[in-house]
Amino acid sequence: MDENCIFCKIIAGKIPTLKVYEDKDVMAFLDIAPANKGHTLIVPKKHSKDMLEDNNKDLAAVMKAAKKISAAVMKAVSAEGFNFIANTGPVAGQVVFHTHFHIIPRFENDGLKHWPKKDYSEDEMIAVKNKIIESI
Ligand code: 5GP
Ligand code: ZN
Repeated sequence: MDENCIFCKIIAGKIPTLKVYEDKDVMAFLDIAPANKGHTLIVPKKHSKDMLEDNNKDLAAVMKAAKKISAAVMKAVSAEGFNFIANTGPVAGQVVFHTHFHIIPRFENDGLKHWPKKDYSEDEMIAVKNKIIESI
């Protein structure tokens, strides 16, 4: 547990939350500032700052539970779809540095917008593709 981490405090029961799921490795609770009705956060219980630092075993447990919880969230609020998102790093909008994934139920005409598209040249795309492959 990280003493300064708000999600660690939630997991430890030191801060109240609207919990929807818990097992030995994973917890899920409603987001306090939801983008839509049913917006849920799913987290590994063990502290890590983001998914790149989380260990594979915990990450796998989160993903397995996320499938079950996403289906339950959809059913509970009669959603027609959902976004499954990890904001990773401050530049991507991460504000809580404990690995978490957002399950955001989506409805027809709910007003949420996707990010705009940005083009880059095919040459640059190929160069980026090659760099990614080299980096794996
Ligand atoms: P991110 O770091 O991915 O940008 O988002 C963190 C999310 O955690 C936000 O959507 C925010 O509303 C949620 N959040 C922050 N503090 C709390 C809290 O104390 N309780 C709950 N349930 N959600 C929180
Ligand atoms: Zn934490």
